[in-house]
Amino acid sequence: MSIEFRDVLTPDSPFWEKCARHQNLSTSRNIAPLFLCDECAIRLTNDCFNQRPPIYHGQGLVGYCGLCNEWREIALRQWFIDPICLNVVYGYPKSIAACKLIFEKWHEIVTPHFPNLELQEIDVVQIEPFIPGKRSALSKKAAIDFQVTDNSLEGKPVVFFIELKTGPSSLLDDQGMREFQLDVNDYVDIVNVMRAEEKPAYVFHAQVTEEYSLPTKRSIGKAVWWTDIFTLRANLKQVRHRRGEDKDAGYYDPKAFHLLDTFPRHLGAKGYLALAKRLSEEGIADLP
Ligand SMILES: [Zn+2]
Ligand SMILES: [Zn+2]
Repeated sequence: MSIEFRDVLTPDSPFWEKCARHQNLSTSRNIAPLFLCDECAIRLTNDCFNQRPPIYHGQGLVGYCGLCNEWREIALRQWFIDPICLNVVYGYPKSIAACKLIFEKWHEIVTPHFPNLELQEIDVVQIEPFIPGKRSALSKKAAIDFQVTDNSLEGKPVVFFIELKTGPSSLLDDQGMREFQLDVNDYVDIVNVMRAEEKPAYVFHAQVTEEYSLPTKRSIGKAVWWTDIFTLRANLKQVRHRRGEDKDAGYYDPKAFHLLDTFPRHLGAKGYLALAKRLSEEGIADLP
């Protein structure tokens, strides 16, 4: 096996026993295992881990890469990463799988009917270090994940926005989640974009599950549901504190959502123009 990326961090480095994702020196003796292809190991080292290479490379094997989710030649790599940063890193392959799923479904379900509507990613997956103090300024470059332009119109204007939420659950009635959760901050970001741009926004839920081929696994997208922000707001059950976290979330009835298969019907009826009109006439309600 020809795994080529073999740089290692050595115990004489000032970054030894320091969280690789923390830009400053933050002590962590938590050794985090990641199965990665060379390309993704280098990408994480450069973009997320402050150019600090792994402390260990295992032998090459074939399996799923823990970042790009591809079946390829990989190796176990280890870094010092504290548990909070590691959670963020383990979230990347889920976001990557969700983003891939959205584009696949869009091309399969929407494009055949509306080739003029182009889905554009603004900022879904942000692979980046943790910079203390600059969290809010740097972590969210864009307040929303996708925009859709109408390329049949002069100047190819944006006609609506999409915020993507990812989770393991289905939204089908019989097997699905009881409540759809959206952080209050996310809701505020979405309605701020709508008010500033005077365009409606939709929320898509991507079901992403894990598929195991031990010792590796990958995240794989299953299905996509959609709702618009007015319908979501009308299905708010309550706002409450998120368990174990220092923030509030809105909890919504999942019946606000429909499978993406029904989205072309909404687009065909120019649903997004009706929502834009409603936004300009009534505005969009804040959360209580
Ligand atoms: Zn950290
Ligand atoms: Zn990879």
